[in-house]
Parts: sequence; structure tokens; C-alpha cells
Amino acid sequence: MPKNIDTDLAISIHNLDHSFGQGQLRKQVLFDINLEISKGEIVIMTGPSGSGKTTVLTLVGGLRSAQSGSLKILGQELCGATKEQLVQARRHNGYIFQAHNLHRSLTAIQNVQMGLEVHGFYSRSEMIRRSAEILEEVGLGEHLNYYPKNLSGGQKQRVAIARALVSEPDIVLADEPTAALDKKSGRDVVNIMQKLAKERGCTILMVTHDNRILDVADRIVHMEDGRLANNILNGSAAA
Ligand code: ADP
Ligand code: MG
Repeated sequence: MPKNIDTDLAISIHNLDHSFGQGQLRKQVLFDINLEISKGEIVIMTGPSGSGKTTVLTLVGGLRSAQSGSLKILGQELCGATKEQLVQARRHNGYIFQAHNLHRSLTAIQNVQMGLEVHGFYSRSEMIRRSAEILEEVGLGEHLNYYPKNLSGGQKQRVAIARALVSEPDIVLADEPTAALDKKSGRDVVNIMQKLAKERGCTILMVTHDNRILDVADRIVHMEDGRLANNILNGSAAA
């Protein structure tokens, strides 16, 4: 066991509850979530539609604010965080959605550059160099100047991965990234995510319904009705 366990954790969630709405319409959707994810770990979250997976991901990503309990990202508490603290926290993350969310009016390389522009400290030539390099790594070196409409679903999702990873984030959050893809493209996409994450030592929390990709995870956790049901070490889960 590592000695200083706190600094080895990328994500540390304790007794996290979450509700949507106010007054009579208030509805609790997360109940007492506890989850610790080490740096460099790949964790897959499964569970039926409506069980709260996206809500967990958006809280971890700092896309909405945590209300009660504790949610620490790289040691920083996000529960009760200010808007500025959330913006800061988001800089550690790369986010990949089910729909690729590429800008239609930008080419592949311009879309990837967007992932660096938010950071504001790269020169233009450095942004182009890094963007071309990562597109090369996801197998799109020949497609730098293609617009999304001229790319396949799998290629678009690979551009989205390149955009999420180009700034070398500590944590990658992926919400059903293969849901819109055929079997082979889905497999390619997660293999690339796994490879890039392992090379860069980044942590991945990925939500998926896709049983075909569970083997990339170090660990699988399951959501059910707003509760985290069980922790399964991969290997036993694959059986
Ligand atoms: P999953 O990603 O597992 O399908 P979600 O986290 O999207 O589940 O949703 C969990 C529950 O929270 C659902 O009952 C859903 O209707 C509700 N919910 C999600 N987002 C909102 C929102 N912005 N406002 C109100 N209710 C929401
Ligand atoms: Mg969802």
C-alpha cells in the first residue's frame, strides 16, 4: 500500500449527494457516493439510463457544483467551490462526450487547437505542432484539414479524443464515447484512449453501456438508482 494515499488519488469522492430542482420539485438523484480513483487508473462506470452516471461525471468535471459531501480532484475540494475554482479545476480535465461536439466550421486540426486555446499560453506555431502531432497519433495525420462532415463517426470521435488530450490533462472524463460508433470504430477509439492515457499517466473515468470495451478498465464500478453498487476488479468482471 502506498504511504501517502491522499496524494496518489486523482479523484476522491465521499458521501456525495446531489439533487436537481427546488422546493416540491426537488429530486435527489445521487445518494452517498463514495469512490476513490488513483492517478493513472482507468475506471469504467456502467449502469442503466437515468441512474446518475452523467451527473457524477459533470460534478467530477466541475461542470456543475457539488452540493453536499466531499469531492476532491487532485486534492482540491470542489464541494462548495467558487465559480473561479471550478474554472481552474476544469483546466485539469479533458472531456469526451457521446456526440463528438466538433465545430462544423473548423477543420480537424483547428478543432484540436481549440483544446489548447483555452489554456492561452501556447504560441500559434506550438499549437499547430502539438495538434498535428496528436492527430497523427490517433491515426488522422492524413486528415488534418478535413471538415467534420467529411469524416466518419469514428474519425470524428478520434478528433474529439485528440482535442481532449492535446493539453495533456491529468484526468479524462468520457461519457459514452463509443455509443454512436460501430463495433470496430468503438474498439479503435478506446484503444487509443487507453494508449494515450497510459503514455501520459492520466486518469480516465469513462461511462459506458458498451460491454465490448470493459476490458480496457483497471476497475469497473456500477451505478443503480443513484447509488454506487459495487466495485469489481477487472478480470473477475470480464468472466
Ligand atoms: P445517466 O447518465 O445514468 O443516464 P443522469 O445523471 O443523466 O443519468 O440522470 C440521473 C437522474 O437525474 C435522472 O432521473 C434524470 O432525469 C435527472 N436529471 C439529470 N439532469 C438533470 C437536470 N439538469 N435537471 C433535472 N433533472 C436531471
Ligand atoms: Mg448519461
